[in-house]
Amino acid sequence: MLFEQLSLIEPILNALKNEGYTTPTPIQEQAIPSILEGRDLLGCAQTGTGKTAAFAIPVLQLLCKEKYTGQPKKGGIKALILTPTRELAIQIEESFAAYGKNLGLKQLVIFGGVSQGAQTNALRNGVDILIATPGRLLDLIQQRFIRLNDIEFFVLDEADRMLDMGFIHDVKKVITLLPTKRQTLFFSATMPAEISSLASSILNNPVKVEVTPISSTAETIEQAIYFVEKENKKLLLAHLLMDSNIKSALVFARTKHGADKIVKDLHRGHIVAEAIHGNKSQNARQRALSNFKTGHTRVLVATDIAARGIDVDNLSHVINFELPNVPETYVHRIGRTGRAGASGIAFSFCDQEEKEFLRDIQKLISVQIPIVSEHPYAMENTSLNNISATAKQKPVQRHYQAKERRSFRGGDPRRYAGNQATKRS
Ligand code: AMP
Repeated sequence: MLFEQLSLIEPILNALKNEGYTTPTPIQEQAIPSILEGRDLLGCAQTGTGKTAAFAIPVLQLLCKEKYTGQPKKGGIKALILTPTRELAIQIEESFAAYGKNLGLKQLVIFGGVSQGAQTNALRNGVDILIATPGRLLDLIQQRFIRLNDIEFFVLDEADRMLDMGFIHDVKKVITLLPTKRQTLFFSATMPAEISSLASSILNNPVKVEVTPISSTAETIEQAIYFVEKENKKLLLAHLLMDSNIKSALVFARTKHGADKIVKDLHRGHIVAEAIHGNKSQNARQRALSNFKTGHTRVLVATDIAARGIDVDNLSHVINFELPNVPETYVHRIGRTGRAGASGIAFSFCDQEEKEFLRDIQKLISVQIPIVSEHPYAMENTSLNNISATAKQKPVQRHYQAKERRSFRGGDPRRYAGNQATKRS
C-alpha cells in the first residue's frame, strides 16, 4: 500500500514525499480512510507506530477541503489536539507543520512552564489547529484567550498517560467545553477501565484500530552492544568501519555538534562520511541523503530529528554512537535497517553514563542485547548493576541527564518560549 492509494490530496502527498515517507504504517493505513469519511476513532497505539501522522494527515485534509470548497466558519480554532507532555505537543506541532506545509493552515502549540506572551500573541493572529497540554489550555481559556466553540476535530492523545499524570480531571473539563457536534479521535496505548469508560462516553460509533507496539517489530535485526569509554568511541567507530561488510552505515548522534564532530574524526581517518542535521540547509540535507542512497557516501551521521523519514533501501548497519535516552527512539533508529524482512545489523556503543539508557531499552524490547567484548577498546566495567551507585556519586550529572531526557524527545522547548512563528509554508 502506498500513500497515493489513500485518496490524499496532492499538496499532502508532496509534503509526505518531502518527509521521505512512501508507505503508510499499519495504523495510518487503517485510520486515515475512516477519519476521512468522518468517523470517530478509537486507536489503541503507542508512540512509534506513526499514530501522529495517522490523525494529522486526515485532519489536515478535511480542514483544507473545508477551507477551499466548503463554507468555513469564521475565525475560531477548528482542531484541538490534547496531549499530556510538552515534548509530545512539540512533536505533534512539528508533524502538522511538516505534513501541512503546502496548505496554508495555521497551527500553534501551547504548554505550561514558559511565559504565555508568545502564545497569546500567536492566538490573536488566528489559529486553525491548536496543540495543547491540558493545564495551559484551561488557563488560557479561563483568561479568555481561547474559545473552543468552533472545534470540529478533537484528538485526545495518550489518554492513559493523562490518567497516570493526574490530568484526567482537566481533560474531562476541556471536553465539557467542546461543541457536541464534532469528530473525535481517541488514542491510548492501554485501556484501563477509566479510559475505556471515558472513550465510550465521548465517542460516537467509533472505528477501532489496534496496532502492535513497535517494540516487538525488530526481529530481523541483529543487535550488539559495545561497551566503550566515551573518549574511545571515535576509535572504535573507525575500527569497525574497516570491515568492508559494512556496506552502508547510518550513525546516530545525539546532538548536531556531536554529529559534525564524528564526521570530522572520520575524515581524519580518510573515511567518507557526511552529516545530516537541523543546522544544515534543506539542500545540503537532501544532497547528503541522496549521496548516501546512491552509495557515494558510505557513512551518514544523523541526529534523530534529521533522521525522521529517512528511508534507505538495503541499509546494512545502524550504529548508535550514543544511546538515546528515550528507549522508543532506539527502536526507531534500528528499524531503519532490516526493512521489509531484510536482515540488518545494529551496533550500539554504551559508555558508563549510558548504562541506564541501555537498561531502559532492554526493558522496552524485552531482549538482552548480546555484548561484543572482543574489541580493542573494551571497557572494563560492563555490569549494568552498578548504575545506581554511579548515579549516587554524581548527583549533578544525573540532574543534567534528567533535564536532557525531557528536552531531547521533541527538540528544545526553549525555542517555543520566544517569538514563535506559527505558520510555516
Ligand atoms: P509517532 O508514532 O507518531 O511518534 O511516529 C514515529 C516516527 O515515525 C516519527 O519519527 C515519524 O516521523 C515517523 N513516521 C510516521 N509515519 C511514517 C511513515 N509512513 N513512513 C516513515 N516514517 C514515518
